[in-house]
Amino acid sequence: MHDYHVHPNYSIDAEGSVEDFCEAALQRGLKEIAFTTHLDTDMTTDDCHVVVRGKRMDTLSGEWLENYEATIRAAHDTYKEKGLRVLLGIEVDYIDDLESLLPEQFYSADFDIILGSTHLINHGAISAGDRAEDTFKRYSMEELGEVYYAHLLRAIETGLFDIMAHLDLYRRFGQGFYGEGILNIWKPYLKDLANAMKRHNVGFEVNTSPLRTGQDDPMPEEGIIRALRKAGVLNVTTGSDAHRPSDVGAGIVEVTDLLKKVGYSTITTFNHRRPRNLKI
Ligand SMILES: [Zn+2]
Ligand SMILES: [Zn+2]
Repeated sequence: MHDYHVHPNYSIDAEGSVEDFCEAALQRGLKEIAFTTHLDTDMTTDDCHVVVRGKRMDTLSGEWLENYEATIRAAHDTYKEKGLRVLLGIEVDYIDDLESLLPEQFYSADFDIILGSTHLINHGAISAGDRAEDTFKRYSMEELGEVYYAHLLRAIETGLFDIMAHLDLYRRFGQGFYGEGILNIWKPYLKDLANAMKRHNVGFEVNTSPLRTGQDDPMPEEGIIRALRKAGVLNVTTGSDAHRPSDVGAGIVEVTDLLKKVGYSTITTFNHRRPRNLKI
């Protein structure tokens, strides 16, 4: 079992040290854990900070990345003998012109996996409950689908990412705003999405966080997972998006079963950004 999406307390909205997360992963019988601290890049929001030794730092300054990389590698060495593989990952929020904004240290860090996310569209947050409504007010449901999936395609085409995180994130707050129809807005874009993913060897994660808030489906929902499998997108990971140690590994068994149910026989593991598909 792998949890390839966790936030230790480098992220301003997370609690628990790298060690606390590793201990929780061991207790839950995980074989691999990937740390994926947020690298938010849109300076028009207040999200562009990380915390290093209690000090708030600008994510784009890049200085924190050296400390982060060293901490994760030390955990890798410590936990290897205990049967847990610890990966150096990062969750980068995609915005246009991202490549020119990323700090030098991003390009020199030896990541195992880079998650790409779309938390904002045209500077409007869709993942924060207090801000999502303001963003949704700007778009009809159809427009939201068009803008969101075009943004996602641009992210994939940068070649910066290994795995796209929580593909249908707009559903979290969008369902309350637009209603059930939002569950279908991916359909016109699936073919282009799958083709771009295959062309750039980009996969997707099955994110279990909705299962902790009473929803039946992970992100993306089963229909999208099924459609991507059918379209031949084979790279797939599982992640809890835990922001505290008690959520590490949550729902991973359930979504691994779901992947098998829709026809996946492998899950993807990463080593220095090289994907390898392992039998599940
Ligand atoms: Zn995210
Ligand atoms: Zn996350």
